[in-house]
Amino acid sequence: MFRPINYGRLFMGRLEHGDDLYDALTSFCQKNHIALGWIEAIGAVQEACISFYEQEGYEDSKKRYKLISLDQPLEILNLTGNVSLREGIAFVHAHISLADSEGRVYGGHLAQGTKVFACEFVIHAFEGKKFEREEDGLTGLPLWKP
Ligand code: ZN
Repeated sequence: MFRPINYGRLFMGRLEHGDDLYDALTSFCQKNHIALGWIEAIGAVQEACISFYEQEGYEDSKKRYKLISLDQPLEILNLTGNVSLREGIAFVHAHISLADSEGRVYGGHLAQGTKVFACEFVIHAFEGKKFEREEDGLTGLPLWKP
């Protein structure tokens, strides 16, 4: 499914030292009434928590996401995400690439527990009919419904 959307506003800013990266982006969107959007960010984190969706056997498992904790300073090479509605409220879905002091890269689905060292972001807010998530029987994921 897809639909054309209209460009709305652009927000550019930075998060605070010590913020939870996921929660801060979500709360920024909720406070600024952004429910359809695109997020990009760079910066650094003090520690990170990312996850990997287990495609095999998700139906049998309540823990579908394998959590990966990275307890070290890391550079945010790229954060890319979107904003849509889940259960009627703005919901951020973001993926992140992180580099350690040797240049090794880790990546995954951004989870709560990622602590900001410094982070600069851009959020593109779109106008038009919102995208809403609902549980998808095929993948077990909360995907956009048509
Ligand atoms: Zn994801």
